[in-house]
Amino acid sequence: MFDRPHLVSTDATAEQAALYCLGEFPVEDRKTYEQHLSSCAACRAEVEACSAVIAELALEDTRDLPSKARKDFLTRVNDDKASGRHWAKLLGVIITPELSSRPNVKGNRDQVGAALDKLAGRLFGSEQELLDALVRAALELCDAGTAGFSMLYEDEQVFRWDALAGALAAAKGGTTPRTWSPCGTTLDFGTPQLFSNPSRCFEYFKNPTHHIFEGLVVPVYVGEKPLGTLWVASHDDRKFDKEDLRVLQSFADFCGTAIGIMRERQANQGSDALP
Ligand SMILES: [Zn+2]
Repeated sequence: MFDRPHLVSTDATAEQAALYCLGEFPVEDRKTYEQHLSSCAACRAEVEACSAVIAELALEDTRDLPSKARKDFLTRVNDDKASGRHWAKLLGVIITPELSSRPNVKGNRDQVGAALDKLAGRLFGSEQELLDALVRAALELCDAGTAGFSMLYEDEQVFRWDALAGALAAAKGGTTPRTWSPCGTTLDFGTPQLFSNPSRCFEYFKNPTHHIFEGLVVPVYVGEKPLGTLWVASHDDRKFDKEDLRVLQSFADFCGTAIGIMRERQANQGSDALP
């Protein structure tokens, strides 16, 4: 595996670099590996990263490490590398800047106002009814394959698909991890994000019948607190544009305000009921 330069870092190159830095290579192999390093930028970067970890952990003599410290070190190096690879994958599926260069396919400005008026009529119903109506409106106005609202459940560190409309509607109630999902990434950035073929990065989206080609995700806040995300996905060659973003953003703003009002009213009703 070391006869030619590596194009990218892998678990194997990370492990070899860690073993090299730990002094675990026999003398003959060290020479071969060092020759390889002179021509392989990927492995040089691995060795630099391992050396940085060693320096940070202040491990002076890596050859005499007790076995637990050695194991911890290898785990740490591999985790660091894995998260680096995750980042590379993640950056590969985010195509948000494309939104500004795409022509707007259709203007549905008037319909957004009408849809919001209709949604405002649901302020006295339940949160669930409001979310259901919201995703149906988003599905229609963005001409999407699926539209959804992913509620953030902070305690469980997941997003739950509390409302879904369209092709993937049957997946309602499903969850994605807070730390590794398009919704999580969108909340991390705090701005809308466009994803292209997200299953390349988030493997759990692989779906034989409804492949997701694009996903447009907008964060929803109640005040400053993140509530979740509103999103649309396409299962064909539909490409989202600035107009879709504007529609979705209007719905997301409305949703945050509406749920804030509903929860406040609920809290007040609760306190009114107290003796
Ligand atoms: Zn290499």
